[in-house]
Amino acid sequence: MIPPPIDLQRRVALDLARAHGVPLVTPDSPSALREAVALLVAAVSPRTYAEVAAGTSFYVPRLASKVAGLIPAAVIPRLVSTLLDVAGIDLPATGVVLLSRPAWDRSPLATWSHECGHYQQDARVSAGGVVASTMWGLGYLVHDDVEAWEEGRCRVNDLVGLVVIDGVPVDDALASARAGVEAYSLDATARVLYLAALDSAAASLRAGELPGEGTEIHHALRALVASGDWDAGPWTAAIDGERKTVTP
Ligand SMILES: [Zn+2]
Repeated sequence: MIPPPIDLQRRVALDLARAHGVPLVTPDSPSALREAVALLVAAVSPRTYAEVAAGTSFYVPRLASKVAGLIPAAVIPRLVSTLLDVAGIDLPATGVVLLSRPAWDRSPLATWSHECGHYQQDARVSAGGVVASTMWGLGYLVHDDVEAWEEGRCRVNDLVGLVVIDGVPVDDALASARAGVEAYSLDATARVLYLAALDSAAASLRAGELPGEGTEIHHALRALVASGDWDAGPWTAAIDGERKTVTP
């Protein structure tokens, strides 16, 4: 099986972001805008500007503008707000996804799907009202355990991408995804949750199935196949399977 061309993956990622209505800032976006979003991530999260500039992909939740106001040291610079305005990004309405250069060059679709997972969670908790939304937004941005809880779920997108898009054997992909847990300082419970999500997804992949239902990586794979420019080989049936389930 030949992986889909990176250009095709990028095109599908941009199409999906447009369909979701969430701005996707990539290395091809104007540098001032990338700079603004990187500053924003550094202002509202434990990430430093140097880390973000060196290659971090990130979803900035809709409430980040308010969250920043709650953290005394973190004030979104006026320049950032202005740049977001100029780019037509209404942060409180949509959030924004930032994709790093390494992700855009090597795994644009899987990393988009990962960040979209955070966006979708943001949309879900927003439906629960401002308290739920603020609790999640704050937790996601500043608390390791909440972030890890989220990451275990979203990391499944990367795992599926490694196996189905890049053709990496499941065990190798799982080892790589599991190693991600070391990036967080987790208590035992959070660590178990993070790893369990990945182990369960790997079991599905070994059985030739895609884990979960309605995940963004599954939408992305369907879009790749629908483009007519990629043969999913042994995964064709599994990718097609959800379409029959979701749209009878
Ligand atoms: Zn994430």
